[in-house]
Amino acid sequence: PVDIPMFTEQNELKGYQLIAKIGEGAFSKVFKGINLTTQEEVAVKVIKKQTLTMTQEDKHTKSTTKLEQVLKEVTLHKMITSLQCPNIVKFIEFKETSSFYYIIQELLTGGEIFNSIVKYTYFSEDLSRHVIKQLGNAVRALHSMGIVHRDIKPENLLFEPIEYIPNDKPRLRKSDDPMTKMDEGLFQPNIGGGGIGIVKLTDFGLSKQIYQTNTKTPCGTVGYTAPEVVKDEKYSMEVDMWGVGCVLYTMLCGFPPFYDDKIDTLTEKISRGEYTFLQPWWDEISVGAKTCVAKLLEVNPEKRYTIEQFMSDPWLNKFDSKIRVKSKIH
Ligand code: ADP
Ligand code: MG
Repeated sequence: PVDIPMFTEQNELKGYQLIAKIGEGAFSKVFKGINLTTQEEVAVKVIKKQTLTMTQEDKHTKSTTKLEQVLKEVTLHKMITSLQCPNIVKFIEFKETSSFYYIIQELLTGGEIFNSIVKYTYFSEDLSRHVIKQLGNAVRALHSMGIVHRDIKPENLLFEPIEYIPNDKPRLRKSDDPMTKMDEGLFQPNIGGGGIGIVKLTDFGLSKQIYQTNTKTPCGTVGYTAPEVVKDEKYSMEVDMWGVGCVLYTMLCGFPPFYDDKIDTLTEKISRGEYTFLQPWWDEISVGAKTCVAKLLEVNPEKRYTIEQFMSDPWLNKFDSKIRVKSKIH
């Protein structure tokens, strides 16, 4: 086809045609692509091999670390895909050329939940529940396998658009809205859009397997592990639950629970769990929703909701009557 732009990332990649850039992360660019044999649409996460210019000294160590990291992401993503959880983005295949790594995955055409929050300002309780339940489902699948995601945020939550009877109309952000400060240039219309149908978790770049499911024994040689590592791993599942809490909070009011221009102040606020249900944004939100958020944003990891406790939360299990699917767009 003549009208398809040519990307540098396309060179050497056989079997797929890159169509458009749809996303970006710290080390990656993500493209919509097409499998030239099956005509299937896919997402291609491209990681440049030499992303960083390094000194001769740390060249060796850094580049192997990067390779190891990509391979770890691929291994875990492949393993996670075998769970066949409907709320996890499917891994398709991994390719490597002289300049790039390519992680080929199932395409989610709605884009990031993050962009929808920016666009809609905030979600109704029903819509928030619809999304967070699906995230819970994904986290349950991961945790049951002894895997922690460690990077749960609205940018890593993707969706398929659907048409539903809208009770979630876009609202204008008020000028004193906490998000307004952070908002400049945030909203980038992604491909697709529309109502939020199926939601899937992606980006296993920071994920880690803590224990093997069949034995529940920790990965690696236990006996030689330092106490702080053991302690770290003990609380790592809880890290994801904190992430779920941050996502839920952000959907309900339109801005994140912790925010500060200065990183030191932000870190302080987080370590003390210093967040509020800020007026007037939280005034109309139910006690049930606030309680659920509070049990997730609990500073003490031992008291924080586990995935099973979260999945049986009363607010989460309230029947939502308002999200009725009209028809699927494709
Ligand atoms: P990074 O590890 O660099 O953060 P991600 O895997 O999170 O990379 O991908 C970066 C962005 O690309 C995502 O936030 C999302 O906007 C987009 N993206 C990633 N995977 C897909 C996919 N399967 N379908 C649609 N968009 C995607
Ligand atoms: Mg990401």
